[in-house]
Amino acid sequence: MAGSEAALQFADAGWQVNLYEMRPDVTTPAHETGNFAELVCSNSLKSSLISTASGLLKAEMEMLGCKLLPLAAQCTVPAGNALAIDRDKFAELITATINEHPHIKVIRQEVTQLPENLTIIATGPLTSDALLKALLPFLPQEHLYFFDAIAPIVSAESLDYDIVYRKTRYDKGEADYLNCPFTKAEYYQFVEALNAAEKHTAHEFENEFFAQINFQFYENCTPIEELARRGAETLRFGVMRPVGLETLAGDRPYAVLQLRTENKDFSSYNLVGCQTMLRYPEQKKIFRLIPGMQQAEFLRYGSIHRNTYINSPQILSSDLNLPTLPELYFAGQITGLEGYTESIFGGLLSFLIIATGLKELPETTISGQLWRHLQTDVKNYQPMNANFGILPPLKEKIRDKKMKKLALSERALQDLKIVRRSS
Ligand SMILES: Cc1cc2nc3c(=O)[nH]c(=O)nc-3n(C[C@H](O)[C@H](O)[C@H](O)COP(=O)(O)OP(=O)(O)OC[C@H]3O[C@@H](n4cnc5c(N)ncnc54)[C@H](O)[C@@H]3O)c2cc1C
Repeated sequence: MAGSEAALQFADAGWQVNLYEMRPDVTTPAHETGNFAELVCSNSLKSSLISTASGLLKAEMEMLGCKLLPLAAQCTVPAGNALAIDRDKFAELITATINEHPHIKVIRQEVTQLPENLTIIATGPLTSDALLKALLPFLPQEHLYFFDAIAPIVSAESLDYDIVYRKTRYDKGEADYLNCPFTKAEYYQFVEALNAAEKHTAHEFENEFFAQINFQFYENCTPIEELARRGAETLRFGVMRPVGLETLAGDRPYAVLQLRTENKDFSSYNLVGCQTMLRYPEQKKIFRLIPGMQQAEFLRYGSIHRNTYINSPQILSSDLNLPTLPELYFAGQITGLEGYTESIFGGLLSFLIIATGLKELPETTISGQLWRHLQTDVKNYQPMNANFGILPPLKEKIRDKKMKKLALSERALQDLKIVRRSS
């Protein structure tokens, strides 16, 4: 994400770019192709609504001249107000755009030594061990790492349409989701099965290099079995909440698991919130307990992966380079941004810093605050995604939550417009 955005930015500005990518010869535990900008888990770049933080970030990125978002807009699949995309089409489009660019030379090779020329390291949460080893002398023990979990995908034709029904929560927007309704007995049977299931343990994913494991998850990617372990009602009041999802007959199920389309032709579905560390045979057995999925065909099983990021505030300058090796910049998730869109923003930001000498973005913007996050030294440095909580409060008090978010967004875009005009 960050690397593709940065490469296109610099190349369009007339720089000569050497883009190193180790795939497909050397791959990561999550990528499946050799394409650039491969989405490894959900196919959503989150909401497009300006009244959401993610929507605001995208609007800001468009104002700042983002290259990948207009390409994403050519690959959308229906998902209500979310910018969901056909992952294959998107990655193929970005790959072709990069391959055909006269100013980009693509070098398919794992980088194992620190380069000496001006370089942006945008190797993401699954940065190869060899590169991390090369970086270690410059990243004292503050480099951190943990694991993340991804959800299974099932084929549409294997679902039981006498049970699953199409509906969006509260009937807002297009009915882009399929819903699997649980009775009370079915729900507790499912929770019980999750609790009894055989899981991978952190130990199995250790390797020599990562001797010490810090076992945490993104809260929004917590494995479903971990949520079930927290209490029998956790799922029913969380990702499987039934409110606004009454069946076509008007009944309110005890719980509902939603399935989100993976592509435009609705041939495969992602089990929303079912990121998991369960072993594959266990996944097959347990997810087939979900009503409507008795015969489900699994196109991809859920799994867990490493997520590496560095303590940017301690290690990098405000320009996001290493003070000891000033030609070496970092961008994307490895710096402590979290999410596809945020990582794309990281690539855009590195271009603005290096090529235009940008020193700051308005503090009222999500982009400005994400950049600040990378510079703000805190005890427990954690990846950050777009959210309204990072913005300074409004001068006036607005009680209505939606109006408040809209006011925050309007303020941000207005301030960004002023900065853009004056620079
Ligand atoms: C399993 C998993 C699931 C995720 N799910 C989501 C999600 O659902 N939604 C979301 O918004 N975010 C998700 N994320 C978080 C994150 O936003 C994405 O991983 C995003 O792709 C990060 O962008 P990036 O540009 O920083 O890195 P990447 O997109 O991973 O790009 C890094 C590239 O560097 C290459 N590379 C690594 N090391 C080397 C080397 N030494 N030499 C050459 N090339 C190298 C890799 O092959 C890769 O192509 C997930 C992350 C993981 C790991």
